[in-house]
Amino acid sequence: MPRVVSRVDQGGRGPDVPVITVLPPPERRNPVVGGARVREPVVIVTGNVHGDECTGAGACLQLAEELDSALLRGEVHLYPSLNPDGLERRTRRHPDEDVDLNRLFPGDASGSAAERLVAAVWKDIGGRRPDLVIDIHADAPNAIPYVLTDRATSLRGAARTALEASCQRLARSTGLTVLQDYPDEQYTRYRMDRSLTGAVLNRMQIPAITIEAGPRLVLDRAAVEVAVQAVRGVLSALGLRDGAAVDHASRVDGAFRRDSGPRASAAGLLVAAVSPGALVGRGDVLAEVRSLGGVVLERVRASGDGFVVSFAERAHVVSGVPVCTFGFAL
Ligand SMILES: [Zn+2]
Repeated sequence: MPRVVSRVDQGGRGPDVPVITVLPPPERRNPVVGGARVREPVVIVTGNVHGDECTGAGACLQLAEELDSALLRGEVHLYPSLNPDGLERRTRRHPDEDVDLNRLFPGDASGSAAERLVAAVWKDIGGRRPDLVIDIHADAPNAIPYVLTDRATSLRGAARTALEASCQRLARSTGLTVLQDYPDEQYTRYRMDRSLTGAVLNRMQIPAITIEAGPRLVLDRAAVEVAVQAVRGVLSALGLRDGAAVDHASRVDGAFRRDSGPRASAAGLLVAAVSPGALVGRGDVLAEVRSLGGVVLERVRASGDGFVVSFAERAHVVSGVPVCTFGFAL
């Protein structure tokens, strides 16, 4: 039984969350090498915790089809949707309670419906004893695909350095541009430590990475292929499959941090002045805000060296709106 479909059990008190497991044949599982049984890696791939971001759902289904269990050296557990009701109703958040599931981990088994769903998912994931969790999201149509790495804010010293370094190494093996998440204070204030990957890193103390690919609300074939290619690279790096990482054409090499980007101070049409992924210097114009009469009301400039990761998913901005997500050079 190389493929098994199970469900996260909520005792009928919440939506079904299917899990597709791809396993090597029993005789090849955890082989004995040099007299000792080797525990092969267990990798979890999740998608659609934000119900309007479908790339991960498509990627999980494609991986379930293409991963060859006969050649696999380890286990892959695929969760196509952590927010099935959000998927149905096209909402980012839990549709009944209007909360972001990806700020609630590890959840609360005696809490609200959203907290119970998160707690059930958390328990199910933990029970599979993963070595790595890969969570797949979607950002915006005008963006490059990228990988985010979390902050191990609950750890100190060498333990923190080692865990964050292994996240960096695995993130690079996706072949995508790698961004460290916000600085510690902002990271905690935005409750990123309560995202799935943030909680996995800080509570399970195992590596976790977030892939961002494609637009929201549609299942974009090209984005799914980008995400699958990225996961293949990680599985190869961990030795679960043969093959090497393939760098995506958009990859920007270097050390960068996610930044919420400069904000518009005028209201008008947002006109991009650079392409996502193109390196810029501090002070370079990233976008213009224009009136519908054609007047340039504002030139929005980079506050540091780096590149635009994604432009805001809107054609019209008002004062105070970030025009892009920026990859800040470290
Ligand atoms: Zn998301």
